[in-house]
Amino acid sequence: MTDKPGKYTPDQPKVPGADVIYRPAGEAGEYAPLATNPYKGCNHACKYCYVPLATHQDRAEFNRGAVPRAGYHERLLKDCARYQRAGVTAQVMLSFATDVYGPRDASLTRKTLIALSDHGLSFCVLTKGGTRALQDADLYRSNRDAFAVTLTTLAPAFSKKWEPGAPLPDDRVDALRRFHARGIFTWVSLEPTLDVEASLEIVRATHGFVDLYKIGRANYLKEITRTTDWRDYTLRMIDLCQQLGALHYIKRSLQEHLPPNYPNPLRVQQHH
Ligand code: SF4
Repeated sequence: MTDKPGKYTPDQPKVPGADVIYRPAGEAGEYAPLATNPYKGCNHACKYCYVPLATHQDRAEFNRGAVPRAGYHERLLKDCARYQRAGVTAQVMLSFATDVYGPRDASLTRKTLIALSDHGLSFCVLTKGGTRALQDADLYRSNRDAFAVTLTTLAPAFSKKWEPGAPLPDDRVDALRRFHARGIFTWVSLEPTLDVEASLEIVRATHGFVDLYKIGRANYLKEITRTTDWRDYTLRMIDLCQQLGALHYIKRSLQEHLPPNYPNPLRVQQHH
């Protein structure tokens, strides 16, 4: 079967038979060429989470927490062998449809990272689990892997309102600092942007230990999308990043506001 034009980018390798390591499409595909989701559901209960909507899951059931997907590890090992045979060494991102560092046992996350490494693949973890992620810090290779955090605010009360089950921003920032200190490439997802000033403040506060920012908007939240001047936000953000020398990628949802010919490569090397 041929792919729909524009659904994937040329750097997203198509491997016949691939099952749990997949090519994310659309907005997720802007974040990573490949991804995998060891769990179903998530404990963080973010109000803005698009996953129940996109995957037709009941939100209350989804928020009950992450549980391992059926037969995941065996399926992963088969996939890893397929990708290895195909000579693919790209970064696989964990995860778009769950968070791999919830409050419960995360040993399947560790097994996943080990399997990817053992088969020549790289990995990138995007999480709101904060310092819980340090349990696997020993597995990261500075010349292959990356650690990333989503931040919508630095204010505990605001985070509690929107991401009631997730570790507070301070803990996530601490995790970034500690991965960076270990020589690991770090990046921050500023998506969704729920408050323009908060996102700008995050860049000011973290640029000393964050290697890259991926900047998007709020997509599903009418009250925010209606009242935010996204052009003004984009221009202020790129101005700030330039002043601080902070590497950044502006997502497609905001690219219409970029100045003509603004350098904004989809992928940069996410390791040292
Ligand atoms: S951490 Fe991610 S997957 Fe989990 S509820 Fe929040 S947005 Fe959804």
